Amino acid sequence: MSLHIPFDNSYARLPDRFFTRMSPVPVREPHLIAFNTPLAAELGITPGDEASMARIFAGNEIPVGAEPLAQAYAGHQFGGFSPQLGDGRANLLGEALHDGRRVDIQLKGSGPTPYSRMGDGRAWMGPVLREYVVSEAMHALGVPTSRALAAVSTGETVYREPGGLPGAILTRVASSHIRVGTFQYFAARRDLDALKALYAHVVDRHYPDATDPVDLLSRVIDRQARLVAQWMSVGFIHGVMNTDNTTLSGETIDYGPCAFLDTYHPDTVFSSIDMRGRYAFSNQPNVIVWNMAQLATAMVPLMTDEDEAVEKFTKAVHAMPELTHHYWRQAFGRKIGLSAISEADETLITDLLNNMAHGQADFTNTFRALSDGKPRDQFTDPALFDDWEPDWRTRLEQEDDPLATMRAANPVLIPRNHRVEEMIDAAVAGDFAPFARLNLALSQPFVDDPDTSDLRHPPAPDEVVHQTFCGT
Ligand code: AMP
Ligand code: MG
Repeated sequence: MSLHIPFDNSYARLPDRFFTRMSPVPVREPHLIAFNTPLAAELGITPGDEASMARIFAGNEIPVGAEPLAQAYAGHQFGGFSPQLGDGRANLLGEALHDGRRVDIQLKGSGPTPYSRMGDGRAWMGPVLREYVVSEAMHALGVPTSRALAAVSTGETVYREPGGLPGAILTRVASSHIRVGTFQYFAARRDLDALKALYAHVVDRHYPDATDPVDLLSRVIDRQARLVAQWMSVGFIHGVMNTDNTTLSGETIDYGPCAFLDTYHPDTVFSSIDMRGRYAFSNQPNVIVWNMAQLATAMVPLMTDEDEAVEKFTKAVHAMPELTHHYWRQAFGRKIGLSAISEADETLITDLLNNMAHGQADFTNTFRALSDGKPRDQFTDPALFDDWEPDWRTRLEQEDDPLATMRAANPVLIPRNHRVEEMIDAAVAGDFAPFARLNLALSQPFVDDPDTSDLRHPPAPDEVVHQTFCGT
């Protein structure tokens, strides 16, 4: 029996200059590593036998109804503009449409395309399994994100270091892969017809209630503000917030050198290529404003009156910091047990975070310990907690059920960097048990399960991951 995907490919119906029609480049020996059965069921996808799924998710066989293509886009990378990026190692097979929900089905690591530049179009198993685990964990944490439908090994060697590494392909699901950089691509070419077609497509697909470009921008800004606040609330550092990795849908995409905080410090950077900390943990709310300003700039030609456009877009972008701050305050308020939060309460949050930074407290475990543990033990100097605690306790007296609020906001489990690395090392050596175990445990991150207690521990000194890599 063969896999069935209910394709309906709206992006492929856009003008030809939006993409290059092409099939994935077949691989030598596809093997199925993982198939996300619950996600497939949600999407109306009927699984096939293992061999046929391995062929399809490797790009060796094109499923019925697919219209494979590589998408064109541009983007600011670390602040510098590249007018042409595009899917250099990905193919959009098409869109699954089921129960009114439309999602992209994309193979990542599927071979060179006209947008590959110097790259080989491939991925090795590390980044593929990392994205699988982390994107699914983010979903379980309640953060809007692309999902992982499948992973296959290719039987080919990918050269990222001497000796080579096993190749793999991820099947990624997203509500779309339209990026700020997609608008920038056509704006840079002064292609107004394409911008209009893209605008109409985005409104139709993601924001059917949007009334005009200003309204669309405000809605994207709102979703991105909420998204970044959610990242912060689980200690997530995206690592490459380039405009080509920022979606119009407001979902997290492109898990490259991303990482989760262990010890809290606002300046934390993991990415090996982020020399200046542009994408540091606490800089994410600033960068997203910058990215939205780039989107606004690219959308100016959509307005008939350019002066009016600049004025209204500027207003929308300038409103963003307060918006992100609002979502941030709500999210962190819940983390300390406050169902609603006033501005006066905010110092409770900032004081705790400052003390955590000074006391080298573990981000995830400290917040969880507020309801289910001994938070003072998380600090190198417990006095840093003791100083803060009385005001917090007094404030909690006004709450009905602060324990429930905290337990719903503070996960027990996150994909800790050292566990992800350990899982990758095992997989490369042929042992996929840690991959399966991590996925299963992280599907219920708020559940306090003694069987997964080892996954809660911060890294021992010799396990600390100091740097993460794009893996491209
Ligand atoms: P990223 O940093 O993953 O967002 O990728 C930035 C750009 O580089 C995109 O256009 C990718 O398609 C392209 N790219 C990344 N890795 C490769 C690769 N191995 N081969 C070809 N293109 C790549
Ligand atoms: Mg990217």
